[in-house]
Amino acid sequence: MSAQAATPDYSQGAAYVGGQYVPIAEARIPITDWGFLRSDATYDVVTVWDGAFFRLDAHLERFMASCARFRLDPGLPPAGIAEVLAQCVRLSGLRAAYVEMIVTRGQPPWGSRDPRQAVNQFHAFAVPYVWIANEAQRARGLHLAVSSVQRIPSTSVDARAKNYHWNDLTMGLLGALDGGADTVVLSDGAGHVVEGPGFNLFCVNAQGTLVTPAEGVLEGITRRTVIEMAAALGLPLQVRALPAAELRGAREVFLSSSGGGVLPVTWVDGAPVGDGAVGPVTRQLVDTYWAWHRDPRLATPVDYGPDAGFE
Ligand code: PLP
Repeated sequence: MSAQAATPDYSQGAAYVGGQYVPIAEARIPITDWGFLRSDATYDVVTVWDGAFFRLDAHLERFMASCARFRLDPGLPPAGIAEVLAQCVRLSGLRAAYVEMIVTRGQPPWGSRDPRQAVNQFHAFAVPYVWIANEAQRARGLHLAVSSVQRIPSTSVDARAKNYHWNDLTMGLLGALDGGADTVVLSDGAGHVVEGPGFNLFCVNAQGTLVTPAEGVLEGITRRTVIEMAAALGLPLQVRALPAAELRGAREVFLSSSGGGVLPVTWVDGAPVGDGAVGPVTRQLVDTYWAWHRDPRLATPVDYGPDAGFE
């Protein structure tokens, strides 16, 4: 019998935890980490498409800003983080991946409840690309419910810093799924819609103007991409409060997320948006979004090395 250790299987994804790379199924964090006990963490998600990171610099910049906002230290500069992310992707061999970087508070010494005494922990992983909407939903458009659940106000938890305070999103989603919708958008408590579980929201209103909420939302990198695409395509766009009534009367509605880019919505609260079909502006933005993935200014190729095992 050979005493040789089995080669780790990274085919389902690779993680970096406790300073080591492990297959995704073996990735663990200590139960006493405040990241787990208190959602005391920040994170970001960047995708890999066709073997290249999309807008890696923008995600790293937002991640560092989120860390600063929550007084969390990743312990690595952006270039060091990028190298860990690339190594997770390289080990997995994935050409289309969902790549997450996380800093948790860690744990203060026993007996201390002072977060300043905790040693923050950096973690990362790469898994197969995650879609917010499946293929059928992308083809027909999602059915969206407007929830009465209020998104945690930014005066309590800064929505611009990416966080795991998801109970409002999860309870809203459960209500929407129970009611037969595919997903949900939460409100700000004053009649405006804000964002949903993992996405920002846009509509083409009755006047033909693109509108996306300004406040109380994560400033999504895909949202930024949509804003830039609209400018490049000459589409009028406003970033401002979006009343739920305006959304219900819109010609087109779509979501934006790293989990699939521009995702059409064709029903809101059980009523069709426009004629109930995916609209022309949404289609144009979907096509442009994927075309931009080939722009060398936005794509950072992963060096898979000579022995890469591809999907
Ligand atoms: N809003 C929330 C609450 C999110 O969690 C996310 C992404 O996970 C988004 C918006 C969309 O951000 P991005 O386009 O950077 O993926």
